[in-house]
Amino acid sequence: MNAPLPKAPINWIAVFALVFIPIVALIAIPLYAMNHDFSAGAWISMFVLLGVSSLGITAGYHRLWAHRAYEATTPLKILLMIMGTFAVQNSILYWASGHRTHHRHVDDVEQDPYSINNGFWYAHIGWMLRDYPAAEPNYKNAPDLLKDKVVMFQDKYYIPLVAAVHAAILIPVGYLVGDMWGVMLLGGLVRLILSHHVTFFINSLCHMWGKRPYTDENTARDNFWLAIATWGEGYHNYHHIFQYDYRNGVKWWQYDPTKWLIWTFSKFGLAKNLRRIPSFNIKKAELAMKFKYAQQDLAVYGHNMTEDIATAKLRIAQEYDAFSQTLNDWAKLKEQEIQAKKASVAEKIHQMDSKLKDEFHQVELRLSQHRETLNQLMRNLKKGAVSN
Ligand SMILES: [Zn+2]
Ligand SMILES: [Zn+2]
Repeated sequence: MNAPLPKAPINWIAVFALVFIPIVALIAIPLYAMNHDFSAGAWISMFVLLGVSSLGITAGYHRLWAHRAYEATTPLKILLMIMGTFAVQNSILYWASGHRTHHRHVDDVEQDPYSINNGFWYAHIGWMLRDYPAAEPNYKNAPDLLKDKVVMFQDKYYIPLVAAVHAAILIPVGYLVGDMWGVMLLGGLVRLILSHHVTFFINSLCHMWGKRPYTDENTARDNFWLAIATWGEGYHNYHHIFQYDYRNGVKWWQYDPTKWLIWTFSKFGLAKNLRRIPSFNIKKAELAMKFKYAQQDLAVYGHNMTEDIATAKLRIAQEYDAFSQTLNDWAKLKEQEIQAKKASVAEKIHQMDSKLKDEFHQVELRLSQHRETLNQLMRNLKKGAVSN
């Protein structure tokens, strides 16, 4: 099915970290548990430290450095760098540059470093175990990171930093909990393995399981259960179409602890310029997909040309025209806005602004109405198809 992968030499450091250490854990932990009980504190340390390392990746490596979805003060950068180092996923520079390549060439078997089209195993972990050309770092896409002092410091001293961060976190926690070995094994070892696979799921399962409400031009999916496991990164379909948004779960009710954390940082003055895609663009993408799905459903149900289905078909076509009209209105408004700005007459801009705001609002409202109507039509259509 998939083309065979190119031959590539084994990366022994990755094999040590991702295969050897988990095997040691599988043997050592049950042996230890036969003679000792893990304290409650050691179990809690595992969950808390899983959060610390995973959020370092999601809020730091991913949304701050790979996507520049917000700006962080230096103290926050240092904090996120320490948290991310604790997750042992290579340096920010390497990770973020590779991730930018993933977005740029998503699903391409030769250029996406963790293309799902090379299979689950490859996208999950296999891509790291050998030195595949696709995963070779190419820092041409990261000139901003090459200038970032925190990023470059971490890249230069990565290995000693990994050791120092582990000692600085695990020893005091073990001491506080009064169960040094328990914390080392659960908060250290098991936590590290869990935190690795949580991130790897984003590259594997988040490109396999779930819905595609915003785009079907790539394999990325939205999946609530994966969002729970991945600190909010499971809304991966949204993320692949609007990668610069600091939110992955864009709806206020969607479970995305990373977006809440970034928002909280901004309230404390540690983060600013949180980037949000305008709601019109989000609705537009969502509605365009709904029409696409409606067309596909029609192709399935449409054989049975009852009167109901014929009517629904006609109504959907009318709705689509209305949708296109709304998009045209929107484009015209945008054009007017640009013209007003060019005219640069303060008074005029002010008048235009309030008038346009009103009209923008009307257009957005119409878009929401189209969505409602379409939902209703699709429900009727499916009901009709079932009863026939
Ligand atoms: Zn992806
Ligand atoms: Zn991303």
